[in-house]
Amino acid sequence: RRRARAPPLPPPPPQLAAAAAQAQEAADRLAAAREADPLKGRYGDLPLIQSSEKTGRVWRRLDTLTDADVGTTVLVRARVHAVRGGGRSSFMVLRQRSTTVQLLVAADEAEANVSRTMVKYASTLPKETVVDVEGEVVAATVASCTLASLELHAATIRAVSRAAPLPFDIVDAGRSDADVAAAAAKGEALVTVSQDTRLDARVVDLRVPASQAIFRVQSAVCQLFREALLGMGFVEIHSPCLIAGASEGGASVFTLDYCGRPACLAQSPQLYKQMALAADFDRVFEITPVFRAEKSFTHRHLTEFTGLDFEMAIHEHYDEALDVIDALFVSIFDGLNERWGKELEVVRAQYPAPPLRYLRTTLRLTHAEGIAMLRAAGHDIDEMSDLNTEAERVLGRLVAVAHGTDFFILTRYPAAVRPFYTMPCPDDPSRSNSYDVFIRGEEIISGAQRVHDADMLTAAATAAGILPDSLADYIQSFRYGAFPHAGAGVGLERVVMLFLGLDNIRKASLFPRDPKRLTP
Ligand code: ATP
Repeated sequence: RRRARAPPLPPPPPQLAAAAAQAQEAADRLAAAREADPLKGRYGDLPLIQSSEKTGRVWRRLDTLTDADVGTTVLVRARVHAVRGGGRSSFMVLRQRSTTVQLLVAADEAEANVSRTMVKYASTLPKETVVDVEGEVVAATVASCTLASLELHAATIRAVSRAAPLPFDIVDAGRSDADVAAAAAKGEALVTVSQDTRLDARVVDLRVPASQAIFRVQSAVCQLFREALLGMGFVEIHSPCLIAGASEGGASVFTLDYCGRPACLAQSPQLYKQMALAADFDRVFEITPVFRAEKSFTHRHLTEFTGLDFEMAIHEHYDEALDVIDALFVSIFDGLNERWGKELEVVRAQYPAPPLRYLRTTLRLTHAEGIAMLRAAGHDIDEMSDLNTEAERVLGRLVAVAHGTDFFILTRYPAAVRPFYTMPCPDDPSRSNSYDVFIRGEEIISGAQRVHDADMLTAAATAAGILPDSLADYIQSFRYGAFPHAGAGVGLERVVMLFLGLDNIRKASLFPRDPKRLTP
């Protein structure tokens, strides 16, 4: 197929054209000066790196540099984070992910090693340009860089890829509210960057150290989830996201055209992970995108998020699944605190929040006990209601005060507020063998013992207004002998947001999708 030809660009406005012409003249002057410079081989833009050579040189990572490297010459590839000065010397800051180091480009008296033209070249490189720098590691005190006890003295500097003008400055996007407020108190107005501006240029926003750290924490949550469940005998599965019908009722689905037939995007791997148990996998987990076509404009709802799901056979009681949730999350939280402390520190520097408080054995309360706590605190809440966002928040605070934990489990929800496949309580059919789990008063997990009896499941689906025919394969899978089972669905972005105490789930989603946002 032929590509449509792009329409010609409109001419730039006159002031921009003048600025561009000036910049071009300056660049031409610098190029001419460099041509005449005997040191010109030590700086300049590199030709396109196109896999044409393998030199065997070794690039050092900035975060591996220590005082022991003082006196050695290293080669690094990093971004130009900031530039000050010019003339005979320029102080630059190089950044590699969250690590920054000061780079001094200084002309010597005889211009035998570094020329003034080289200083000019370096100091006029646009911010965020990717450079290769060879330099000596020198002891120094640089409080403003993460490598505070050393700096680099440039011997060579070459641009690998120049940056275009930025939609916002990384430094402006990396400030904490406290820094902005402190400056305002002194009468200084610092630039701040709105969430939409950040998300519109997410690639730039993701370079901010706190964002870098958030997504390392996100990766860590997945790693720790996997490590813990594999250690408990679970098998990782991959169920389809393209499905024939709405899986569970309730949350609305995205529909699409599937080779001429209607289809949906999965709202969760619920039915398939249960079918995997019916297929003798015993204990399964999955990390998968899930889709919700809900018009929820809140700080904690996305239309696409990552589900961390598990499902397991139980012998007698859904407490067996709660024991897994307990061990799993205590090990995730311990792991984050013990192995990702540096990242937590970087996030907290921009988004301060108290560390999560959790008990060695997770607190379990019943829904009725939760309602009783809310009522005792003067909140008029119906005994058989699902808790709304506000009630969950308040309960989170009450539990924190009474039990000293920001993490707890609430069990035995009213059957009427749970999906049809939830097993009712044996002693009270108006309640269910279900549970939600909360961090700082917000839901991160929903789960239950499931109905594994095909006839009971058919009746429950019918009572919920769902045509059993639309669930034929699912229900049939329990007719060939089924193990009693229970499981849970966790929202990855919610866990990251709430563990870190962030105010918005979009900060914990790489390229967030919500009812208004489908790009970038
Ligand atoms: P909520 O009541 O907060 O809307 P839910 O009851 O719809 O959540 P489930 O369908 O049970 O949630 O999903 C399991 C988990 O998935 C939730 O506990 C939460 O962590 C996460 N989750 C659910 N919906 C969303 C969403 N729209 N965006 C991000 N995460 C979500």
